Order: sequence, then C-alpha cells, then structure tokens
Amino acid sequence: MIDDIAEILDEWKTEVMPRVRVGIKELRAEYPDFERERRTEYLKGRMEEMIFKTFYLMNDYDDLSKGNDVDSRLFVGGQIIGSIKTIRKLQGEIIALRRPEGTNKNEITEDMKQRAREVPFESLLPGELKRGRCACPIHGGKNVMSFEVKDNRGKCYSCHWSGDTVQFVMDTQGKNFPDAVRYLIA
Ligand SMILES: [Zn+2]
Repeated sequence: MIDDIAEILDEWKTEVMPRVRVGIKELRAEYPDFERERRTEYLKGRMEEMIFKTFYLMNDYDDLSKGNDVDSRLFVGGQIIGSIKTIRKLQGEIIALRRPEGTNKNEITEDMKQRAREVPFESLLPGELKRGRCACPIHGGKNVMSFEVKDNRGKCYSCHWSGDTVQFVMDTQGKNFPDAVRYLIA
C-alpha cells in the first residue's frame, strides 16, 4: 500500500509537476510582458479549478472508503495529494507575484493605516456629537443617544455596529480597505 502511494507520488513528481512547470514557462515565453495582475488572475483561476477538482476527488475518496476497492482508493488518494501539491505551487506563485518589488505605489503601509485610524472620528460624522453621542449614521436611526464615539472608535447601541475610522468609511461609503485608508489620509 505504502509502495503504491510512493509510486503515484513519483508519477506526479516526474510527470505531472514538470508538465505544470513547463506550462507556466511556456506561458511566460508566450507573453513576455504578461501583466502581473493578468497573470495573477490566470493563476487564481487555475487554482480555483484545482480546488474544485480536489473537492470532487475527496468525495470520491470518501465513497471509495466505504467499499473494498483499495486500488481505486489509493489512486484517488494519490490524485488528491497531487492536486494539493499543484494548488500549493500555484499559491506560491501568486504570493511571489504579489511581493512588492521595492516601492509599490499601491501598497498600504502600517504608517498609512495608523494615520487613517487617527483621523478624528467626529470629522466623519454628518452632525455634531453631544456628550460623545449622536444618531447612528450606520443604521440611520433617530435616537441621538444611540451612537457613541470613544477612543476614536464608533459604536451603536441599537444596531451594534462598532469600528474605527477605516471601518466607518468602508461601511458608509462602500469603499474597500485600501481605498478607505487612502481616502482618510488624502
Ligand atoms: Zn446603528
């Protein structure tokens, strides 16, 4: 049994994995200036396919576990291991593509996050605070006591929203995290 698995893994190592590598190499050669993002999208797509494939293989494996067909089970098990390896490889490449090369213009640094969180919460509110409270801008209630600002964080006692300035901008303006940070420190 152990030998069979080793054999299957060998096959993956010697045949399948090199094919994946060659595939990636060919793609690079075909698109010498393949944009980072396009490539990442492509890899993500492949990863998604592999995840689906693995999911189905795992179902097959579960079904086979109920029977006596040990060979099939070992084969599917080997395929699962191979798929997982491929997924890890794709993931590794995606991470490598993400790694900023020196200065990345789009990068959100810790310092930027810090500055965004220090923007006075009050300045983001439509009205004024009275004794640290106001009507909740998140759920739009009328109770002027429901929303509290404390330690530059907001909290609603009615809808139970709570968050910092970044979260507030994300939730009231529909921005994603990096855009909310940029908006706050602009
Ligand atoms: Zn609320």
